[in-house]
Amino acid sequence: MASLQSSITDLLTDIYNRMYSALGPQHWWPGDTPFEVCVGAILTQNTSWTNVSRAIDNLKEAGVMGAASLYALPLERLAELIRPAGYYNIKAQRLHNFLTLLMESYDGELENLFSQGLEAARKELLSVNGIGPETADSMLLYAGRLPTFVVDAYTIRALMRHDIVDENAGYHSVRELFMDNLPEDAELFNEYHALWVNVGKSFCKKSKPRCDQCPLNGV
Ligand code: SF4
Repeated sequence: MASLQSSITDLLTDIYNRMYSALGPQHWWPGDTPFEVCVGAILTQNTSWTNVSRAIDNLKEAGVMGAASLYALPLERLAELIRPAGYYNIKAQRLHNFLTLLMESYDGELENLFSQGLEAARKELLSVNGIGPETADSMLLYAGRLPTFVVDAYTIRALMRHDIVDENAGYHSVRELFMDNLPEDAELFNEYHALWVNVGKSFCKKSKPRCDQCPLNGV
């Protein structure tokens, strides 16, 4: 068992090293404040970051990029401001649900939420209607600097193509694969997830993967 675990650790470390050597630090997630990172994590569901950026700019220009002011905004106005991010009525409601938790249970302070530690804060976020595991883990890792692994479709697709996980692999089992076999290190998890996104977008495309140019060719 120990040798199996160390071989998985070696494999995951090799993958990380190959991506990092080829692509360098990714400086992800963009956001001026932890609060902005959390807003971005909700807005980025099912859309590109370019669209999220436009929605965030709208919120900043309107002077409402803060928990209390965003919470006080009528839903219709919030939806109008985040319109560039798509699914704006649904996302306005999701943002409001998150803000309700933050304002009513944590005095509007993310630090109060995150200071409970990873498991308790994750449970709280997952109780919010519209926040799933990927969104919750993105907030915890990139805004809270807590050591949780963010899994996305890019990661699962590449791992499946290398037969590291099977076609039934879901969010939970892939997250565990990384968390059980790598050091509990928020900086490592931060960079690792960002590198998967880069590899997924640039090389491991849904159709016609560019394996010949990919840093993971040969893994
Ligand atoms: S593009 Fe090819 S080499 Fe790169 S991760 Fe995908 S399957 Fe692997």
